[in-house]
Amino acid sequence: MKAPDFRYLKAASVDEAIAALDRHRDEAMVLAGGQSLLSGLNMRLSQPQLVVDINGLSELKGIRVEDNHVRLGALTRHVELQNTPEIAEHLPLLVEAVGNVAHMAIRNRGTLGGSLCNADPAAELPACMVALGAKLVLASPEGQREVLAEEFFFGLFETARAENEILTEVRVPIPGPDIRFAFAEVARRHGDFPMAGLAATVSINDVSITKSRVVYFGCTDRTKPAARTAAFLERLKLPLELSSDLKAAIEADLEASDSPGCRADTKNHLAAVLTCRALNKLKPV
Ligand SMILES: Cc1cc2nc3c(=O)[nH]c(=O)nc-3n(C[C@H](O)[C@H](O)[C@H](O)COP(=O)(O)OP(=O)(O)OC[C@H]3O[C@@H](n4cnc5c(N)ncnc54)[C@H](O)[C@@H]3O)c2cc1C
Repeated sequence: MKAPDFRYLKAASVDEAIAALDRHRDEAMVLAGGQSLLSGLNMRLSQPQLVVDINGLSELKGIRVEDNHVRLGALTRHVELQNTPEIAEHLPLLVEAVGNVAHMAIRNRGTLGGSLCNADPAAELPACMVALGAKLVLASPEGQREVLAEEFFFGLFETARAENEILTEVRVPIPGPDIRFAFAEVARRHGDFPMAGLAATVSINDVSITKSRVVYFGCTDRTKPAARTAAFLERLKLPLELSSDLKAAIEADLEASDSPGCRADTKNHLAAVLTCRALNKLKPV
């Protein structure tokens, strides 16, 4: 199918983009990398009257390390997360995660802001941002506000972003030296959206887990911290065993339901196996 008719605005500034969204509200959509939006238009999943292209806005670009945070412009392309030395140094979780996002052509265009605002519960980057305790900066005609990543995702394609807001930046606190990163996923083919995966930040003292933030993707209805799993993991020794208690904690966090091609039981099982696989690779400080 072809996209419906729409008007196109190439925004010259963030203020112009926000003013257009404010005027047109639910009839306008932001265009970033277009990797999700354009296929959505072609399939008529969205039918905006106005598409606001933010690609020319230099204010939304760039990666900076400042005040113990990594500040990522919303237009940071996936490929930049893969190739920027500061990301490899401070946030290696993102490098590993992005290697699993789609294929090179999509990573060249797709943006961090687009992935977060698209809020697909199967996407890797939203899960990483919740695991890392990131804050999202949203701008509207009323000014700026910050939202914790864990409070941003409401469900499939649903977020805390208001219709007249643009995501401008993501601020990720630089994890302390005691933090280890865990990541694992399983997809039917490399580059496909995963059937199940997890991103986690974990503190280990000797061989015991002292603290963790675990976030599952692909097997749950929204991107959220897996609080019961994290509580269960606390004080456990590595290597983890695939115990019935661990499985019960994960199942309670996921609240998985059957979807075409994957039953809830399968999602719960995959998540538990991946949890052991990812955490058992971690080395103590
Ligand atoms: C074949 C294929 C396979 C893929 N596989 C994966 C995968 O395995 N894992 C994965 O995570 N992703 C995958 N993706 C999605 C990809 O990562 C996209 O890059 C991402 O979902 C959207 O980013 P984008 O910049 O292209 O956003 P766009 O498509 O331009 O926009 C997506 C949505 O976000 C909104 N938006 C974008 N930027 C902003 C902003 N700054 N402020 C407010 N709203 C904004 C848009 O209005 C739109 O609703 C895949 C895509 C394709 C086509």
